[in-house]
Amino acid sequence: MYTPYVSIFIFLILFIFSSCSSTACLATRLRPTKSTAAKFAISNNLKNHSHPWFQFKRFVDARRGSQVDGISELKKYFHKFGYIKKNDILNDTFDGQLEQALAKYQEKLGLHVTRKLDSETISEIMSPRCGFSDTFDKLHATKRYTYFTGKPRWSRDIPMTLTYGFSPIYKITSLGMNEIQGAFRRAFNHWAAVIQVNFIQTEDYDFADIKIGFYLGAHGDDEPFDGVLGVLAHAFSPENGQFHLDAAETWAVDFEVEKSQVAVDLESIATHEIGHLLGLGHTSVKDAIMYPTLKARHRKVDLKGDDIVAVQALYGSNPNFKYQSMSESDISSSSILSLRLLKSVIMLLVLALLLL
Ligand SMILES: [Zn+2]
Ligand SMILES: [Zn+2]
Repeated sequence: MYTPYVSIFIFLILFIFSSCSSTACLATRLRPTKSTAAKFAISNNLKNHSHPWFQFKRFVDARRGSQVDGISELKKYFHKFGYIKKNDILNDTFDGQLEQALAKYQEKLGLHVTRKLDSETISEIMSPRCGFSDTFDKLHATKRYTYFTGKPRWSRDIPMTLTYGFSPIYKITSLGMNEIQGAFRRAFNHWAAVIQVNFIQTEDYDFADIKIGFYLGAHGDDEPFDGVLGVLAHAFSPENGQFHLDAAETWAVDFEVEKSQVAVDLESIATHEIGHLLGLGHTSVKDAIMYPTLKARHRKVDLKGDDIVAVQALYGSNPNFKYQSMSESDISSSSILSLRLLKSVIMLLVLALLLL
């Protein structure tokens, strides 16, 4: 009499596994890629530039108990990006506080949590990145997107229009204004395509909702820029609208034209910072736009499922947006949410059938 139930059970199990393989399971997708060698090749290309984070390379293999000259600088790094709350233990001992910060960092950045300074972790720490500290979502410990505390968003009615303007004073001259405006237009359009927010450039900078400027060093907001690479840019949560980029970077719109080894893709960074301006924090999903690091000469401009699910929860979906237009890898992190729900429902049904 159990034969039909057993058949149903087997069918459902097969269905679950076939769904899993066709949409790339979250666990598979979030494994860090084994590209450490490639990363270090890039780092070696950059060895002649002097950003302090490059000194961290000598900490490879350090672990709790190690006494390493200069490791207090790494503690300052973890303090800056939100991993060490108190900045009062600045000695050169790899202590428990540093180990805890390191484990938290590895988890947040989707790395292997080894609690030591392995080469994969050091490579990530040395990478250029967004200046905004990394945020944590205590309610959802799974690897995914985050919001700012209180989940702020632009509070006007949906659909809404936000204006953006470029500072007439704080600018760069290494790129033409047309090239800069084109990169930002494309960056804003990546987000406008998925949510009910429209972005319009205005010449009236003082009254723009989003104010874009390129600044050198200290510029009045306690977040000084640090020269070539290191911190690339930062932007503030809604409804502040301030969007600052480090004027010391070699900003690029075309790597065929800009050959510098320290060139940074303007559209990629702009797309990331707009995510902050809309209310998103940093994610642990490595392929997503809201991941905090981006290496020199790398380009990442396409929103991934993780970014889209996060921002649509704040602003609703653009009626013209369809997941079908995205590639399978793009949607895997969002489809996994519904897949997990589906699996839970199926398992409950199976249990109910077996209990009948
Ligand atoms: Zn950021
Ligand atoms: Zn700033």
